[in-house]
Order: sequence, then structure tokens, then C-alpha cells
Amino acid sequence: MPVFLPFALPDISEDEVSEVVDSLRSGWLTTGPKTKQFENDFAAYLGDGVETISVNSATSGLHLALDAIGIKPDDEIITSPFTFAATAEIIRYFDAHPVFVDIDPQTLNIDPNKIESAITSKTKAIIPVHFAGLACDMVHIHKIAQKHHLMIIEDAAHAFQSTYHDSLIGQLNSDITVFSFYATKTITTGEGGMIVTKNPKIAERCKIMRFHGISKDIFDRYVSKKPSWFYEIVAPGYKYNMPDIAAAIGIHQLKRANKMLNKRQSMASKYDQGLKDLPLILPPHPPKEDVHSWHLYVIQLTNEAKINRDRFVEMMMEKGIGCGVHYIPLHIHPYWRDKYQLKPNDFPHSLDAYQRIVSLPIYTKMSEEDQTRVIETIKSIWNI
Ligand SMILES: *Cc1c(COP(=O)(O)O)cnc(C)c1O
Repeated sequence: MPVFLPFALPDISEDEVSEVVDSLRSGWLTTGPKTKQFENDFAAYLGDGVETISVNSATSGLHLALDAIGIKPDDEIITSPFTFAATAEIIRYFDAHPVFVDIDPQTLNIDPNKIESAITSKTKAIIPVHFAGLACDMVHIHKIAQKHHLMIIEDAAHAFQSTYHDSLIGQLNSDITVFSFYATKTITTGEGGMIVTKNPKIAERCKIMRFHGISKDIFDRYVSKKPSWFYEIVAPGYKYNMPDIAAAIGIHQLKRANKMLNKRQSMASKYDQGLKDLPLILPPHPPKEDVHSWHLYVIQLTNEAKINRDRFVEMMMEKGIGCGVHYIPLHIHPYWRDKYQLKPNDFPHSLDAYQRIVSLPIYTKMSEEDQTRVIETIKSIWNI
């Protein structure tokens, strides 16, 4: 059996290692100077006009985002079923309801043409998910949101470094954008996330709620001239702050982010070339001026493939190559199915994509040989 090639691995350099060690030696482990620096560096990366609020996960960030826009019980929020658990579970934290809208089978992103018919008098927001790192049709989504007075929270867990109409995701005029730094995402802090907004009121609320509803955060308490023991609780908040140990990793991940993106981009081209004559649908690309983050490289088996997805993943595994399936659509999971009496065919494009999709390994720790091996292994399935 050849050496196992995992589906994903973080790319941690000595710089991250020494920065974490520096945090440990400094005695400052929780939110402090490094978290501040990471927030500032991240804001600088995105460019003018954004506020950045670091949190301990994108899930926390999305939760705080819904709190900040004032979601109430029985409100409705439109999103895609073709996403990770986090995107929809946070809606239920408020006893509000996700209203799923099927994907466009070409992009695997929410189909904007189907959004308007899902809007009711209870609809408050749309959460578009930039699947795999391909930006959603945001002009269309913004138009609908404007017309119906809806808020937009972008789930950008896959889309750090992606662009739309030449602007980085995080710079569009959505109310809030949330990034993830989970271990497998485009940059990582182990666990972590970033809330991005241009609205100072939203930023203020997120800052308060990420730390127990206390009106100044621990770092402010550390640097402020008021007595360090004094604080005021203004709301029943959460414990969602990012520790310095995590931010220490993020600071150096961010410095290497463009280099890592370049590598993923060339890996995507190599897959495009190497897999083009097989019974596969290759992932869609954005228009030429735009950037795909290539967080995921998702292929789909066509009917001509003669084997199904489960068998494909199994055969890759037998050859020592880890693959993923992103995602099992939410509406076929027991909780969502039973809660809203959803049928598999309610979202036929999500269901059809689910049956065909395989995520191939695409990460910067892979060597040229690793990727060649993935391509050759796939070809061997059809004796090519
Ligand atoms: C990873 C992910 C999240 C959650 O991110 P965490 O940082 O793990 O909380 C949310 N949405 C999508 C689409 C994701 O892939």
C-alpha cells in the first residue's frame, strides 16, 4: 500500500511555530496584542473601509452576525442547502427558520433566480455561500435584497482571497462577511474566524457580544486608563474571542496567503489539464478578471463514468488517496428533513450534485508528484 495522501493538511511554517512559542513565553495566551495585530493585518489585506472582528470560529462569527442584525424568533433567512452545518444551525439558535433555495447546477452556488419566490413578509436576510471559493452572483443578490429590504451576510468560509467584479470578498457592500480559519481553510489559525463589516454599529455590537456582552474587551481593559478591574455587562453575550495563540498562527498565514493562493491556482490548472478527457464535470471558473480561492476542487462524475461516487471515493481510498464530499445537502440530514418535512427532491440540483461530487486534495503541502499521483490514479479508474 502506498503512502496515504490525506485529503487536506494545513501548511505551517517555522514562522508560525516561533510566533506561537513567543506567545507561550510571553505569558499572554488569550486575546491580546497578537489578536489585535491579526485583525489589523487582515483589514489591511482587504483594503479600505472595513472593520475586522476576530472570533474563535466562523460559526461564532455567523451567530454574532445574526445577533447584530437583530434576528428574532420566526424570522426567515434564505440560504443554500448545499453547505456546511454551520450556515443554517446558527439560524435555529434564534428560533428563526432557514428557507432553502436550490443551487444553480453550473456554479453550485445559490440560484438567484429562485430567491424571490422564497421571500415572504418574514424574510429578514440572505446568507449566500461562496461554494468552494467561487463567488455567488452578488449583483443579482444585492438587487433582490435592496428591493425587499433584506440584509446580506456572506458566508465566506471558502472565499478568503476570492474576488467578485475585481473586488475581494469582504469588500462588497454586504452588511457582514464572515471568514473561517478552520484547519483546512485557505488560511488557518487552527480554529478561528473573522467578521468583516463596513457598518460601525454592527462592528460595535459584535465586539461586545463576542466577549460576555462586556462593553470593552479584555485587550482594551489591558491598555485602558480606567481601573483595570472595571467593566460593564450590557447584554448576555458569548465567549467567542480569538486567543493570541491562534492569532499568532494567523499573522504568518496571512503573510504567506498570496504565495499559497498562487500554488493552489496552479494546482487547479494542472487538474483542469490532467482530467479534461475523463467522464467528469470539472469545476466552474469565475470570469477572467476574477479570482477563485480554490479552497475546494470539486469534480462531478457524469453518467458516462459507469461508476458511482461512493465507489469512486472507495477506489481512491484503496489507492491511498483521501477525498472529500462537500456537501451532503442539509435538507437530507435527519434534523432538517424532519424539522421542516423536506423531501430529497425539494432541491433537485443539490441532490443531483450531491450524488456526483468528489472533492480532490488541493493544498500547498502537496508536491507535484502527489498531484500527478492523484491524476494518474483517477485515470487508471477508466484504464487511461
Ligand atoms: C467551515 C465552514 C463554516 C464554519 O467555519 P468554522 O470556522 O469551522 O466555524 C461555515 N460555513 C462553511 C460553508 C464552511 O465551510
